[in-house]
Parts: sequence; structure tokens; C-alpha cells
Amino acid sequence: MSAVPSNPDQRGEHGSHRVLREEVAPLHTVLVREHLVAWTAGNVSARVAGENLFVIKASGVDYDDLTWQGVVVCDLDGTLIDGVHSPSSDTAAHAYVYRHMEHVGGQVHTHSTYATAWSARDQEIPCVLTAMADEFGGPVPVGPFAIIGDDSIGRGIVSTLTSHRSPAVLMRNHGVFTIGATAKAAVKSAVMVEDVARTVHIACQLGQPLPIESTAIDALHDRYQNVYGQR
Ligand SMILES: [Zn+2]
Repeated sequence: MSAVPSNPDQRGEHGSHRVLREEVAPLHTVLVREHLVAWTAGNVSARVAGENLFVIKASGVDYDDLTWQGVVVCDLDGTLIDGVHSPSSDTAAHAYVYRHMEHVGGQVHTHSTYATAWSARDQEIPCVLTAMADEFGGPVPVGPFAIIGDDSIGRGIVSTLTSHRSPAVLMRNHGVFTIGATAKAAVKSAVMVEDVARTVHIACQLGQPLPIESTAIDALHDRYQNVYGQR
């Protein structure tokens, strides 16, 4: 942890884990650029490797003003450890997921339009696109209805995603929560889930989309996760 700043405006801000906070702050611009968030809704978090801590966007901070100081440090109970702002109202949910899913290094939450529309109908997004098989390994599931502020959302995310390959869950009547090995991977899933939610929605307007056979889904998912891209 670096020294306490002498600037009185920064009282309560010890600048700990600044590198990770500087990495997470600009990831929020992707949410804005991809039209996944309105006003201050939505947030990105990242686990602090090797410590029982994570960093998360502060509550109600404008995306235009978001610097590393708009990203605060919390422990895995969601208690603020460093930062002058209150953490996101979704902090308890993120904390619960980090406590119960050790492989998760980053999380994203949005109310992106098409994906959230599926959640409002309590309908999973069926796996009818090869891009869905690649990224999600099957349908994108819907999680239970849960109120904001306690462990309910976190419990719903963990219970739904532990039985799916999907890194994204549509929490019913609420929105998208994604997990990843890193915050950037979780951002990618948040972008991809909105993209496929839109395409499959349009397909449903035109007729009945054709399902992909489970063996083909498995093969596509395996190839994309293990072979695709620059090695
Ligand atoms: Zn929300």
C-alpha cells in the first residue's frame, strides 16, 4: 500500500491497488461504447490476485468522470477498504460470487436492452448461433428473481452458473451478470450476450430459429475455448 496522500481532498484514499484500479476504470468505457449501460447503471469488478479483496466501480459515479479513484477496494464481505466513494450497490453480489467461485477473476453487470428483455420474460436465450456455442457453450440461462442489497443476487448467480458452461446469467426481471478469468473477459461476455440476445430476438420475429445439435455445440465450444485465436 502506498503512503497516505497529503492532499486533504484525497483523505480516505490510500491509493492501494492502483494498477488494477487503473485497469478496471477504462473497461467501463467499453460498456458505454457498446450501448450496454444508461446513466450510471452497470459496473465492472476485478479480484485482487492473492488477496481476499476486489476492486469495483463506486456507486453513482458518472462514466465521463471515471478515473481510478472512481474504482474502490473492498474485502470479500463487500466492506470498503480503500476509496473515498461508496462501492456500487451491486457490491454484495460481486463479493458473494468471488467468495464462492474461486476461478472468477472479474465480473460485469449491465441492464443491456435485448438481454434484459429476455430476462423480463423469464426466457433463456436458446443456443441457435455458432457464436453462442463458442462463447456460452449452450443457452444463456435465466437466474431467479432477487432483490438488490443482500446476498440474494449473488446466490442466484452462483447457483445458476455452477450448472452451466455459460459465463453469463440473465437475472430475472433485472439484467445481465457475467463472470470471467479477468475483468476484460467478463466485459467481452457482456458485449457478446447483448449481441446474441439481439440476433436471436430478431430471428424469433421472423420465425422459429433452428436449434444446434448438442454434439456440434460441444465441438464448437471446445474449439473456441481451446484452439481458436493467437497461441
Ligand atoms: Zn442492476
